[in-house]
Amino acid sequence: MSKWVYTFGDGKAEGRADMKNLLGGKGANLAEMSNIGIPVPAGFTITTEVCTYYYANGNQYPAELMDQVRTALADVEGIMGAKFGDAGNPLLVSVRSGARASMPGMMDTVLNLGLNDQTVEGLIAQSGDARFAYDSYRRFIQMYSDVVLEIDHHHFEDLLEDLKADRGYNLDTELGADDWKELVGKYKAKVAEQLGRPFPEDPTEQMWGAVGAVFGSWMNQRAITYRRLHDIPESWGTAVNVQAMVFGNMGDDCATGVAFTRDPSTGENTFYGEYLVNAQGEDVVAGIRTPQHLTIEGKTRNESDLPAMEEVMPGLFAELDAIRHRLEAHYKDMQDMEFTIQGGKLWMLQTRNGKRTSAASLKIAVDMANEGLIDKKEAIMRIDPMQLDQLLHPTLDPKAPRDVIASGLPASPGAASGKVVFSAEDAEDWAKRGEKVILARIETSPEDIGGMHVAQGIITTRGGMTSHAAVVARGMGRPCVAGAGMIRINYAEKLFTISGLTIKEGDVVTLDGSTGQIMRGEVPTIQPELTGDFAALMEWADAGRRLKVRTNAETPLDAQTARKFGAEGIGLCRTEHMFFDPLRIIHMRQMIVAQDEAGRRAALEKLLPYQRQDFIDLFSIMQGLPVTIRLLDPPLHEFLPHTQDEMQEVANAAGVELKTIRTLVATLSESNPMLGHRGCRLGISYPEIYEMQALAIFQAAVQVSQASGQTVVPEVMIPLIGTRKELDLLKAVVDKAAAQVFTETGTTLSYAVGTMIELPRAALRAAEIAESAEFFSFGTNDLTQTTLGMSRDDSGPFLETYRLRGIYEKDPFATIDRDGVGELVRIAAERGRSTRAGIKMGICGEHGGDPASIAFCEEIGLDYVSCSPYRVPIARLAAAQAAIGGEINGTK
Ligand code: PEP
Ligand code: MG
Repeated sequence: MSKWVYTFGDGKAEGRADMKNLLGGKGANLAEMSNIGIPVPAGFTITTEVCTYYYANGNQYPAELMDQVRTALADVEGIMGAKFGDAGNPLLVSVRSGARASMPGMMDTVLNLGLNDQTVEGLIAQSGDARFAYDSYRRFIQMYSDVVLEIDHHHFEDLLEDLKADRGYNLDTELGADDWKELVGKYKAKVAEQLGRPFPEDPTEQMWGAVGAVFGSWMNQRAITYRRLHDIPESWGTAVNVQAMVFGNMGDDCATGVAFTRDPSTGENTFYGEYLVNAQGEDVVAGIRTPQHLTIEGKTRNESDLPAMEEVMPGLFAELDAIRHRLEAHYKDMQDMEFTIQGGKLWMLQTRNGKRTSAASLKIAVDMANEGLIDKKEAIMRIDPMQLDQLLHPTLDPKAPRDVIASGLPASPGAASGKVVFSAEDAEDWAKRGEKVILARIETSPEDIGGMHVAQGIITTRGGMTSHAAVVARGMGRPCVAGAGMIRINYAEKLFTISGLTIKEGDVVTLDGSTGQIMRGEVPTIQPELTGDFAALMEWADAGRRLKVRTNAETPLDAQTARKFGAEGIGLCRTEHMFFDPLRIIHMRQMIVAQDEAGRRAALEKLLPYQRQDFIDLFSIMQGLPVTIRLLDPPLHEFLPHTQDEMQEVANAAGVELKTIRTLVATLSESNPMLGHRGCRLGISYPEIYEMQALAIFQAAVQVSQASGQTVVPEVMIPLIGTRKELDLLKAVVDKAAAQVFTETGTTLSYAVGTMIELPRAALRAAEIAESAEFFSFGTNDLTQTTLGMSRDDSGPFLETYRLRGIYEKDPFATIDRDGVGELVRIAAERGRSTRAGIKMGICGEHGGDPASIAFCEEIGLDYVSCSPYRVPIARLAAAQAAIGGEINGTK
């Protein structure tokens, strides 16, 4: 018989932390906490396999499930000393979803389940507090109706507001037991009206309703969107946790809170969290009441007047602090915990590895390695390389003037400017039009995640550091200022006001998620400092990696940025990009439209000094590191004059009539330029172009090596070859230019001539090509385009559908298609090595900066990856992770 249900509580459990796949993250951690003797209210987990079964069998449960749940519930009743559905001494439970990864897009929680008109009497008896019991009852009806019966909560809020208005009350706290009781009646009548049947009174029916809603929510739109954004497979399914209720709102010896073992914003090793006396957990996260700090230090730092838990409940605080240390030592990672205190007893409701900002992630990993809690390799593995991106991006220039109009909580760091929009849908629409937007909301909910994802930054006017907006923004790496209470948002008029000032939709604002400031207009930014923890981690990563990391750069600024980020040379200098400068493009166009070699040579002569200076700059910045220069490879249409004015300009420069140019342009235009007269085909047709470039390279190399005394080793790369013959013909041009420069200058340098491998034919014929090529650089952009037969410029729209349908799981232009393109790369590497042992090989397509593709490059033993400057640190870390991952998996 299959086991579908796992119990926990009373210092033992059937599950363990390493059973996340089966029990979900929450269930596995509840079991683990229970096993190590941390006080956890008893409960049971219905496994993710039930979810899988449910969807595979037309929304039916396995036959044994009912019995197993009944037995587990009896265990919980035994441990807690109360009975589910018992009018005298009722057990109440919470029902929560719990997937392997935390999923804010799903149904989260139903609390107080098991209450009905009879058991509420028992709750009065247990608590001695009728007001509390009826308040719990109405909360349950509202929550259950919202998440299980799908009756919108505004119905219930309206009824509450009406009752308060009737009685002349302002605050919920003014309602007495009879008021709540009356409201329960009204709530139930509203449910009957909306549903056409009464609210379910039978606790068992309530429980199965909630279980069904959890499984149902696995396939709701929000969950599907969340999974898509976070690469979570649908096949994982969710578990359901049913757990005895404990109450944080039964009086002043009760409390509830959220705590992190270290600060999730900065990573500092301080106890961080918020709590509320006499409240339920939802009150802390919903931002309805202002939460209080756990520690005196936190209170002081945040200039709060409200007393800290450390002051109010020192004994319980000490107990919680001890659990903090135990859990962190046990899990060896920063924990995000939820707790409740009922009648002076502390209960832990959840622990999980806490979400954190990129800066915190880095600090925590480095600190934990320094503390000896984890080793350096583990620290390297802890950081998602893509997260580094946030640390590399600019922050606000402290010297720039700021027109600060409001402030809130520094909920997620980083600075961003953009046009204000007031709904997630508008954010998505505007972003589609290429606008940078700041999403401003009173508060956010899981429906907003699409809009939050496309926004540059997020502002909310309500909610704390653990509000939805704050947690999600930190996870996504979006800057966020939360709880900016002085801002009044008016959704209907699409504007917000702050004491007399109005900001309308489309107005530009800047926010600084590290300080909580909101500014009018755009504030300039500065580059981050790459020292401290960042430098330490990078040093460890560099010691752990085999792959070298170079950059794709052609401008001095890019080359300098890349050096600062640790690039070990240039892997791709796309020379065509150097000709878009207004001073040069005219000569370039003249060359393209020239009708004979003499015309071309005249134009090329004008281009040569520019080109030489470009290379002098790059060689100088790279100070002896390898520089791979690729000879011209443009689809020619990129350079053709298009407008009347441009054509006239070329006609004037060439001394011909406008109509001649127009005819030439018409002749040169291609219907498929990506597969047209580009790459080495230009060199084959017009060798004088490559000759000019080669002369410029060698003249520059000689000049820099003479001036600096450094060795300059140019690597000249021929693009888009399909045959060895192409390479041989063009290598001869390069060698001749080198010889000419060496004779003229009396200086000889070593250099290498190699080729891009970016066509399937070149990959297949790599053995013979390597007899001529001294190095290979895989141009996986073109190789993907030509292997998949999908245009790299036109495939975006349908590739999204392809991805959603699971045809390609990842965008093959971003992450290498291992099975197809990867196979060709592997074949080319093997065949290349078969004729030239140890031939140097790298990758310079976009994939060179993608961690998953870097892992593939490590696997097949390439020598380096080359990527855009801002990806260099990401690639350094990813290369180290690939090497360490290989060791762990035994592939090394
Ligand atoms: C490539 O094709 O992968 C490449 C690096 O060249 P480009 O993107 O310039 O075509
Ligand atoms: Mg290419």
